Amino acid sequence: MKKTLKDLNFKNKKVLVRVDFNVPMNNQTIEDDTRIKGSLKTINYLIQHDAKIILFSHLGRVKKLNDKLKYSLFPIFKRLQELIKTNIYFSPYTRGQQLEHKINQLKNKEILLVENTRFEDLVEKRESKNNKELAKYWASLGDLFVNDAFGTAHRSHASNAGIATYIKDSCIGFLVEKELRNLDKCLTNYQKPYVILIGGAKVSDKITILDNLLKKCDYVLIGGGMAFTFLKALNYNVGNSLLEQDKVVLAKQYLTQYPKKIILPLDCAASKEFKNTEPKYIDIKNIQDEMGLDIGSKTINLFKKYLENAKTILWNGPMGVCEFSNYEKGTLEICKILAKLKNAYRVVGGGDSAAATIKLGFQNQFDHISTGGGASLEFLSGKPLIGLLPIKEKI
Ligand code: AMP
Repeated sequence: MKKTLKDLNFKNKKVLVRVDFNVPMNNQTIEDDTRIKGSLKTINYLIQHDAKIILFSHLGRVKKLNDKLKYSLFPIFKRLQELIKTNIYFSPYTRGQQLEHKINQLKNKEILLVENTRFEDLVEKRESKNNKELAKYWASLGDLFVNDAFGTAHRSHASNAGIATYIKDSCIGFLVEKELRNLDKCLTNYQKPYVILIGGAKVSDKITILDNLLKKCDYVLIGGGMAFTFLKALNYNVGNSLLEQDKVVLAKQYLTQYPKKIILPLDCAASKEFKNTEPKYIDIKNIQDEMGLDIGSKTINLFKKYLENAKTILWNGPMGVCEFSNYEKGTLEICKILAKLKNAYRVVGGGDSAAATIKLGFQNQFDHISTGGGASLEFLSGKPLIGLLPIKEKI
């Protein structure tokens, strides 16, 4: 068990905090500040406990000099000033005397936001490759380290695993603690019947978590683009639907090993092209040259039967191309069904399914919506989260 905020004494300490401010931006305007708000509990706790707070985060991918303007954290600094009632400063430097001076000037309860950690990626990807010298340097700037960035917990970067390796003491923040506790209810502490609902398009990423979860759950309901690789494994004609041919063998293996657990769509909303066209509702058996872009009503009813009996439900990936209004029905109906199931523990595993539930207005209807798509997949596949590994354990 990792140390948590309650295990450390922050009074008068310079506390380096890795937060996840990787928010969607449009022309230097924040489109959604959920992630910033998600870090406030930890930041406010540190303020109450008289820490000097130094915040680190990445934003986007910084590959060339021009990206620096696009991905500056300055707009986030402005938003933080609106959200937190304390003195907040900004350092446009990620290293050097001016940054060190600002840190040394900090008083208890004050905050310094350091510019995008990925600006360091412009030289040898120092942040993303967890450069030792950079990690040691950042660690030298503080007394303690808090990791509250779940979104990057599956990556070993200088600003997460690196700092934690070289600093005297460290812990996880409230957001990471909550993610681990809630996701664990789908990994080790689950109640049965346990039903997994999986969709979306990244077949190769998701098919690997099934290896671990199929052993634990009672049923896996497969919708979205994922379904067609499994249908192909059963020799269905999937027309022009999304298909990862090189995963068909693995899908077949799962279907042979768990023939009763894997539940596939009966029908779909199809289109001749990948556009928001008028859907044609067809039986899965009757696909010709169309592409299935959403689950149909027979499938929704079928999935409903399994979901209604479940005590634990884990959902990852939309049931269709919900960016197209004509193909969002499957995802919307599943949201509605899940919203009513108050006796089940319902988790949305981040990424596009989390975005879809929020977009469709269901953000308060689940027990947990993960803030990290990749990190939650990694955790659920049973692998350790390498970004958190060097965080000190409770004694
Ligand atoms: P993922 O990141 O794997 O959860 O994938 C999310 C994406 O899957 C969304 O952008 C959806 O548009 C896409 N998606 C869902 N269902 C389908 C489908 N039947 N065909 C193609 N793309 C799909």
